[in-house]
Amino acid sequence: MLRRIPLSIPSVGDAEAKNLLHCIETNFVSSVGPFVSSFEERVVQTAGAHRGISTSSGTTALHLALVTLGIKPGSLVIVPTYTFVATANAVSQCGAMPWFMDISEDSWTLCPESLKDSLDRETIRKDSKIIHKESGREVSAILAVYTLGSIPQMDEINEVAREYKLPVIADAACALGATYKDRQIGELAPLSTFSFNGNKTITTGAGGMLVGNDSTLLDRARHLATTGRVGTEYDHDVPAFNYRMSNIQAAVGCAQLDKLSDFLQAKARIRSRYDEALAHLDVELFPNPQWCKNTYWFSGVVLKNNDVAMVCQKLKEVGIEARGFWKPMHLQKAYSESPTSLTGIADKLWSRVLTLPCSTSLNVEDQDYVISQLSQILESR
Ligand SMILES: *Cc1c(COP(=O)(O)O)cnc(C)c1O
Repeated sequence: MLRRIPLSIPSVGDAEAKNLLHCIETNFVSSVGPFVSSFEERVVQTAGAHRGISTSSGTTALHLALVTLGIKPGSLVIVPTYTFVATANAVSQCGAMPWFMDISEDSWTLCPESLKDSLDRETIRKDSKIIHKESGREVSAILAVYTLGSIPQMDEINEVAREYKLPVIADAACALGATYKDRQIGELAPLSTFSFNGNKTITTGAGGMLVGNDSTLLDRARHLATTGRVGTEYDHDVPAFNYRMSNIQAAVGCAQLDKLSDFLQAKARIRSRYDEALAHLDVELFPNPQWCKNTYWFSGVVLKNNDVAMVCQKLKEVGIEARGFWKPMHLQKAYSESPTSLTGIADKLWSRVLTLPCSTSLNVEDQDYVISQLSQILESR
């Protein structure tokens, strides 16, 4: 029988089932419940933040973060072009527009030099505002993305942010468990967001979280994440979102958190096995910047040519699911109006990235099968 090795599937079992049953037995199935508070506390602790607000997805956590920081409609938010579309969508949801910048080759994350250079050359200060000269729009924030669980050079990015008095938001969607220069990631930005979608390292089915250290900001975020209610009756002082996570989702999340360190170890093991076994081929390896502890969310290789579709097809024929990866935002129809300041790194990279099976449940035999099949395909070209 042909093997079937999926790209990345969740690993759930008895512990999740037990927690779910607990929700039913106690009748806590909605947006309030013991699992929600426990999940928030534990994620906050893992991230090294003070407080957290669980949300319905990583995208809603990002949108909530942007609105909480007062990002104005019509303004520009700096976003690395190499990201998942959700990052840009969240900016768009608050009426702002992404300003796409490029990544560093050694981390696939927002390049601090290019960030500074673009702000220096392409903006002017006017009444304490930073104005993008070409569009006339105000620049309102920097959104850094922790690509694949690698942390950008946040010290340098924060330095630029201070110079320009811009708030930084971290899209840490797949970076729970990462550290930066031995510091926890919760302290790297005023607000950071996680995703617990099914393909992330730990999942709640669908879900996310906003974490931070400033109580005023977090109070505001909590208010917006619910219904903007004041008092105990039907009084509401702001239009709000109802982005809450349910106790059922958090029940799955709590069981998953117990396995986080095992999952992270599995992801690291999978990455290093691919790196060791595939390095001799005519490919580049995924980055592993030395200044951070990576979560290795996805693994794979960068091909020398744009043969990703052909390689995926050949792998599919032998039961292996592989895929390309993110198409940069500046190439998306949805964001064709957005300003760009690019160095060409994302353009040169994206169409050559091949992601390989990396579920936390992937066993050594199956990974070796992937390695030998991929080696055959690449060596026979
Ligand atoms: C997964 C992901 C998101 C979105 O999370 P959802 O929970 O799917 O909304 C946002 N940004 C990045 C970088 C992601 O990888």
